[in-house]
Amino acid sequence: SNANSEKHQDLNKNLREFLEEMQTDQIREHLRKFTRLPHLAGTEQNRKYAEQIQNEWLEFGLDSAEMVPYDILLSYPNKSQPNYISVVDQRGEEIFNTSLAEPIPPGYEDIPDIVPPYSAFSAKGQPEGDLVYVNYGRTEDFFQLEREMNVTVTGKIVIVRYGKVFRGNKVKNAMLAGAKGIIMFSDPADYWADGVQPYPKGWNLPGGGVQRGNVLNLNGAGDPLTPGYPAKEYTYRFSPEKGVGLPSIPVHPIGFHDAIHLLKNMGGQIPPNNWKGALNVSYRIGPGFTESFKSHKVRMNIHTNNQVTRVYNVIGKIRGALEPDRYVILGGHRDAWVFGGIDPMSGAAVVHETVRSAGRLLRKGWRPRRTIIFASWDAEEFGLLGSTEWAEDNARLLQERAVAYINADSAIEGMYTLRVDCTPSLHTVVYDLTKQIASPEEGEEGVSLYESWHKRDNWTNDRDAPRISKLGSGSDFEAYFIRLGIAAGRARYTKNKKTERYSSYPVYHSVYETFELVQKFYDPTFKRLRVVAQVRAGLVFLLADSQLLPLDVNEYADSLRKYAQSIAEVAQRNPDQMEMYNVSFDSLFSAVQNFTSAARDFNERLQTVNREDPLQVRIMNDQLMYLERAFIDPLGLPGRPFYRHVIFAPSSHNKYAGESFPGIYDALFDIENSADPQTAWQEVKRQISIAAFTVHAAAMTLTPPA
Ligand code: GLU
Ligand code: CA
Ligand code: ZN
Ligand code: ZN
Repeated sequence: SNANSEKHQDLNKNLREFLEEMQTDQIREHLRKFTRLPHLAGTEQNRKYAEQIQNEWLEFGLDSAEMVPYDILLSYPNKSQPNYISVVDQRGEEIFNTSLAEPIPPGYEDIPDIVPPYSAFSAKGQPEGDLVYVNYGRTEDFFQLEREMNVTVTGKIVIVRYGKVFRGNKVKNAMLAGAKGIIMFSDPADYWADGVQPYPKGWNLPGGGVQRGNVLNLNGAGDPLTPGYPAKEYTYRFSPEKGVGLPSIPVHPIGFHDAIHLLKNMGGQIPPNNWKGALNVSYRIGPGFTESFKSHKVRMNIHTNNQVTRVYNVIGKIRGALEPDRYVILGGHRDAWVFGGIDPMSGAAVVHETVRSAGRLLRKGWRPRRTIIFASWDAEEFGLLGSTEWAEDNARLLQERAVAYINADSAIEGMYTLRVDCTPSLHTVVYDLTKQIASPEEGEEGVSLYESWHKRDNWTNDRDAPRISKLGSGSDFEAYFIRLGIAAGRARYTKNKKTERYSSYPVYHSVYETFELVQKFYDPTFKRLRVVAQVRAGLVFLLADSQLLPLDVNEYADSLRKYAQSIAEVAQRNPDQMEMYNVSFDSLFSAVQNFTSAARDFNERLQTVNREDPLQVRIMNDQLMYLERAFIDPLGLPGRPFYRHVIFAPSSHNKYAGESFPGIYDALFDIENSADPQTAWQEVKRQISIAAFTVHAAAMTLTPPA
């Protein structure tokens, strides 16, 4: 145990050195360098940045850094036929057209290749008709429209505001409701903070600013033409019409200046108060315009093309000294809609600085116990494509060898405090680590990040610790966590959710995401980005270099208990049907009970394991590593074969949000309105039994091997 504490001191000394080496000035320079030019996936500039990253990673001292190409389906506007939306009069004349581009921010006037705002993978077409306003276009908004307001959107063009849920879910809802087109706009109620100027004077979205973004419903498939297999040269491709998740209707995004012109003359019912945004219009739901403008129609003109295009991941490695066959992955995307000032380059700059710091340690003779893999993903914005193709390419290795995946997308979305989403087994190491990092906030000298975060965002009334949330999706960890069952987490600086009501951050996915946006407003000292770098890098370090993996099985047990209770409560909203169909959660509760005691016993054995015996250590570490894998059901969730984690999946109604026990949740959803309750409740029972079996099977992996 003397040797143990020496090892522990070495670990702490190296961790401290690793984190201290990361510098604000360096992060600033990485960010400046990688945001000078637009670098959309599939463009030459994004390949150039990939080469630069590969070269610099090698200079920093990685053992290897390679380019890994895939040929995947991307989507670009037609350069000779612009996308726009018109109001047309009774003679068919276009009396209003939406803008073709965002006003260029100062300093960037002569930059070529700024892609105009568009919805990637929109169907082509020129639908014409009446508008119906459907609030955020969420499932509950369409329910309210159809069931309470008795309005149907069949054959209409739907207009919805951005925010609350992933835009692909809005498009799916509009398609299922029978709309022939969908327009999405950024409302100031959701993309404008009080007392803040529009960019460039402040960080608010100007009226001409627009959110780009893909509108796919991939459910984890990756490249739409090669689901399940890596998109290499020889790979068989579906025909473009058969691609996974492609919308069948035209989709287009606009800013609020243009939205006013589409909304201002709308007629029909007065909307409920919570459907009203902050524009000076009535937000009437339609269909169509008021009596005086009845003959005016709206026409969408969409000519966007889908195109198979080569993209490049950069994969860098540090070979592990003792367990080279155990991988810890730090991955984040490089492709950006335009400059990527926040999304993703604030994250890419953090990865770059992590690699630089790791290189310095390597040169001093350090080598981590396990292998570290650094990834610069391509084509995240087009549906997590680069990361998912690499996961498909390497699935056999990863399922045997991957310990954890830490995601490194945007490092900042607000100026308030830390935000962490991760698998339950990572909770404890996140807390331990943040106690060793200093708060970046002015006037908090000597305060730890943990304290600073705790003060601003306490978990709940029943847990006195900083809040940690479950993982959803909408970034590159998805294939690793939800498809392959690799423990995963993400961390970033965030806004105060209690007072700042807007979605993501105002200029998200617009041309105004520049270097200056971060430098002037979000993080002038770059101390917030540094602290995010320290959290992400610190997690990678501890996962890669601790003798015993810093994964906490008791935390998984606690979370499972909470999730089981809460899904049972959802079912209990229908007590009569529960009784009628004989639905019980007893099997799930007893599996969770099994898991809890297996976890407790495992943890006790872990305290007393003979750390001098490498085989004993490896046996315990394998049990820790494979625990997340045990939650994978090879058959996947109903209708979503690539979402295979039984405990967590992206919500079926919002890809950004995580749902626990998603199989049961979806089976119960809206069951009170089911046309065939008998069959619906049978499916609930089947899903409860799958969950119970899976939790029980996972518990068994924690018991002594013999
Ligand atoms: N992060 C991107 C977005 O939110 C892509 C997300 C996804 O396709 O899952 O638009
Ligand atoms: Ca594929
Ligand atoms: Zn993005
Ligand atoms: Zn991103």
